[in-house]
Amino acid sequence: MTPERCLPKKSPASGLVVGVLALILAAALGCSTAAENANPASKEAPPPAGREPSGKPWSPPVFTARQAERNAMVRVIKTYGLEDEAVLAAMAAVPRHEFVPAAFSLRAYADTPLPIGHGQTISQPYIVAEMTRQLRLKAGAKVLEIGTGSGYQAAMLTHFTAEVYSIEIIKPLAEEAQKRLKRLGYDVVKVRCGDGFYGWPEAAPFDAIIGTCVAGEVPPPLIEQLKKGGRLVIPLGEEVSTQYLMLIEKDAEGKVHRRPLIPVQFVPLLRKDPTAK
Ligand code: SAH
Repeated sequence: MTPERCLPKKSPASGLVVGVLALILAAALGCSTAAENANPASKEAPPPAGREPSGKPWSPPVFTARQAERNAMVRVIKTYGLEDEAVLAAMAAVPRHEFVPAAFSLRAYADTPLPIGHGQTISQPYIVAEMTRQLRLKAGAKVLEIGTGSGYQAAMLTHFTAEVYSIEIIKPLAEEAQKRLKRLGYDVVKVRCGDGFYGWPEAAPFDAIIGTCVAGEVPPPLIEQLKKGGRLVIPLGEEVSTQYLMLIEKDAEGKVHRRPLIPVQFVPLLRKDPTAK
């Protein structure tokens, strides 16, 4: 998708006022800005986000290779108006180049989706950032992803919580993602090979669910497995025409509300592993 289609309708003046106010507030509170967070020189290890199964506090791994490229990618994401510091810091921390095939390594930090094999793609960085922001994850939240793909989005989620469940229908992708996440140190992610349409009933209910493949309608089991007060972010629409990223919220009474966020382009939610014999 083109960046133009994602640009928020916000005047430059209002952005300036918000930016200046944010800086004053940040200075008053003595906290660092997103720009500082995205700068490796001032970046500390991310704060613990929950606990590992062993009970040890969880901190995601830290990477320094290609940090300047990640910082440049974060600057591009900020041009869309995305200002969530925790999300920007996580985007500056996860080594996207480790999640793309070697042939695309040079383009790993371009704001574009890239092929990951089997006809699938790793999503555009801005979309990953926006979907993560929309989940409003609190430390310790339990989150489910449908469509592990490369494992990149799942790794992003571990910057907010250690309770990450992810389902991938294509067996070789599920296996590779699991190995990759373990090798890189994102071993708190639980990957399952299967049809994400059914969710992960044994681990339900979830505070947040993220779907990274497009469906015509939200699979009902996912709504059932969402906690009251939970948020589900998923693209809905047709495979080749207009798709919208949708936010589905379940309120305290269990009532479901939905609203479209931005137009997007995703690969379809499959009901069968195309690599299965
Ligand atoms: N989140 C991924 C990008 C995923 S692309 C990343 O960060 O790399 C969408 C993925 O959804 C593909 O890998 C595709 O195989 C998977 N998928 C499609 N239908 C699915 C289903 N029913 N259940 C689980 N995964 C599915």
